[in-house]
Amino acid sequence: MRADLERILIPRERIAARVRELAQAIARTYAGSEEDGITLVTILSGSLIFLADLIRELPIRMKLGLVTVSSYRGATTQAGEARLRDALNVDVTGRHVLLIDDILDTGGTLRLVRDELARHAPKSVRTCVLLRKPSKAPVDVQAEFVGFDIEDQFVVGYGLDYNDHYRNLPDIGILRRELYA
Ligand code: 5GP
Ligand code: MG
Repeated sequence: MRADLERILIPRERIAARVRELAQAIARTYAGSEEDGITLVTILSGSLIFLADLIRELPIRMKLGLVTVSSYRGATTQAGEARLRDALNVDVTGRHVLLIDDILDTGGTLRLVRDELARHAPKSVRTCVLLRKPSKAPVDVQAEFVGFDIEDQFVVGYGLDYNDHYRNLPDIGILRRELYA
């Protein structure tokens, strides 16, 4: 797997340190909501490992919801139209919702999930992404919590895939250009 990377962009130690900082910032933001807690809505599958690490650094009361969005990337690295594959499996009405995604690229995925959430009247919605490509990020979809801003290159590892591979790489790396269409 490592041999398929052009280079490592963010090594595991830097990811771990930044995840702890994000958790602290999130905990401060929701400090007044201890009683009811918050609802984390996580977009699968890319955010799986980020979620697992983040919530174990987050000592606040929470419920977890999962939602699957397919963006028809498959064996390409081009974004397709984002579609919700299932209904929200957690009640968000009147709740403080924190949306978790692996990466903010064109914003299509987050826009879709935010629109769906809005239909269920949550008390508030904030967004946390591990990565963001600022050169692409649209003005109408923003994240309150961002792990790393990266260049517009296709990355894999730490949950992020290419054609469903590489999710188990502990570091985030740039996939060798000749490996994808
Ligand atoms: P958006 O809808 O913002 O264009 O893209 C978001 C989704 O596309 C992410 O949740 C992720 O699944 C996928 N994506 C965007 N950029 C990358 C990338 O560089 N690498 C990988 N593996 N997936 C990406
Ligand atoms: Mg994703």
